[in-house]
Amino acid sequence: MEMEFVTGLACVFCGGVYPARYSTCPRCGIQGILDVQYDYAAVRRRLTRRTLARRRDLSQWRYRELLPIRAASAVPDLAVGWTPLTAAPTLARHIGIGSLWLKDDGRNASGSLKDRASAIGVVKAREARRRIIACASTGNAASSCAGMAASMGLRSVIFVPERAPEPKITQLLVFGATVLRVRGSYEDAFQLCQRACAKWGWYNRNSGINPYLVEGKKTVGLEIGEQLGWKPPDWVAVSVGDGCTIAGVWKAFREMKQLGLIARTSRLLGVQAEGAAPVTACWQTGEPLRPLEPHTVADSIAVGVPRNWKKAVIAIQESGGSMLNVSDCEILDAMRDTGRLAGVFAEPAAATAVAGLRRAVTEGTVGRRATAVALVTGNGLKDIQSAKSAVGDPFDIPPDGAGLDEILCQSALC
Ligand SMILES: *Cc1c(COP(=O)(O)O)cnc(C)c1O
Repeated sequence: MEMEFVTGLACVFCGGVYPARYSTCPRCGIQGILDVQYDYAAVRRRLTRRTLARRRDLSQWRYRELLPIRAASAVPDLAVGWTPLTAAPTLARHIGIGSLWLKDDGRNASGSLKDRASAIGVVKAREARRRIIACASTGNAASSCAGMAASMGLRSVIFVPERAPEPKITQLLVFGATVLRVRGSYEDAFQLCQRACAKWGWYNRNSGINPYLVEGKKTVGLEIGEQLGWKPPDWVAVSVGDGCTIAGVWKAFREMKQLGLIARTSRLLGVQAEGAAPVTACWQTGEPLRPLEPHTVADSIAVGVPRNWKKAVIAIQESGGSMLNVSDCEILDAMRDTGRLAGVFAEPAAATAVAGLRRAVTEGTVGRRATAVALVTGNGLKDIQSAKSAVGDPFDIPPDGAGLDEILCQSALC
């Protein structure tokens, strides 16, 4: 059984098109990231505004024609996709922008946008008749991979760098993964995972090179289109680590345009953390990637050797968008603001998008009347340590309530 609408895989470097059995370009090697191609004329006959409005499936599987899985393949039953798009008027005013929505992907099954990709990963692993799926990750890709694997009866092997936050590692263990904590960087974990997959024949979930996973990530863009009644905002702000998410969002916009679902696309604002900004450097200089040693509180985007930098840069350019960096301090401020002014608890890498939007408004890149969506890519409970440094401690009071009045007055509550 074939994937109904997939026509092939195109290399982002050489442009060659290959049958859907490769994972990287046979000519360019690991540099040659592949991009799934579809028969859009055929998809267009099935996916229209009207047919979509009638679909009851409130998950990413409602866009099945645009996903690289076989028609008969079973999919995980966990919650993935169709996350809330929440209006955030108070936060919008604070940032100084016309309208702002938060796309809360912290509400996926394992608490991050990575569930969209991992859900495709486990389906592909099953299609390939593999029983073990492996990945290297700073945390979220791993926990989503482990959770999705557990729900489909697969085993998972996860390589994590030493500095992955404790809650994420615990999540992995709860989902039954075999967790290998590598005394080294994400890059070390990545290389070890590549070698282990080659040696043991495990299904490789590493999204930087697996062409199918990003197709799951693109569904967040399709949802933004549909949830806003096919009227995309002026800007979509996305934090950038490996670069797959922002590339996926752009692919969604191109596809919606091509399918006649939307009339115009959004501009993309790519945001990196100052201490881990190799993609921004490529975007600014037009030069190839220079690997670096990442340092940022936003662990999920602390990627020194992003595999998808080229796809990300092309996405931002084609969208007419922009890219910038924010400091850890701005990220923690945005984390607090997003919680206090919109009721959404974002992990640092997710708050990075909000921080970037705020800076882009200050610098004049994003206009004061613009409409925007910020992708909240992960739930704040995943990194309590950072959250605490942004918000401080509670007031401690004795059981008789001594001192309570003063505290309330200090907090302007009396
Ligand atoms: C992975 C991740 C990102 C960035 O996605 P890339 O595809 O690596 O660019 C942003 N935020 C969170 C919470 C993530 O887990």
